[in-house]
Amino acid sequence: MSERRIARDSAPGHTGSVGTEQTCLTKCPHCESPYVQPLKVDRVDINLISIELLCPECLTWMSGKFSDDEVSKLMNYFRAGKAELLDTYDRLVQSNMANMASSFIYALKKDLIGPDDFSSNSPRTRSK
Ligand SMILES: [Zn+2]
Repeated sequence: MSERRIARDSAPGHTGSVGTEQTCLTKCPHCESPYVQPLKVDRVDINLISIELLCPECLTWMSGKFSDDEVSKLMNYFRAGKAELLDTYDRLVQSNMANMASSFIYALKKDLIGPDDFSSNSPRTRSK
């Protein structure tokens, strides 16, 4: 049987309330941020895992003991978040590269780029 309660406390130097009932592991009980991060995960029994979580937005620290199923759902949530983050990163890199290529093509067409732009003595490439 799992302990569904998360003891909530604040990080050192941060004031906040303590001991709020919380059953959702993916959302901060203080500010409702969905970016709660695991700090420490330890197995304490055959079907019981202790987790420490930190909210990066309000610095609320939480801990509790949960079943394998609950922790599995939390890990799936993190995997989905990681996949979404990587997908967003890939789309952003692709967009930035397309914008740089367009700028470079425009500069070539307008004859704005010359050999001196690639010289080590060029004001644009010279270090400060
Ligand atoms: Zn928070």
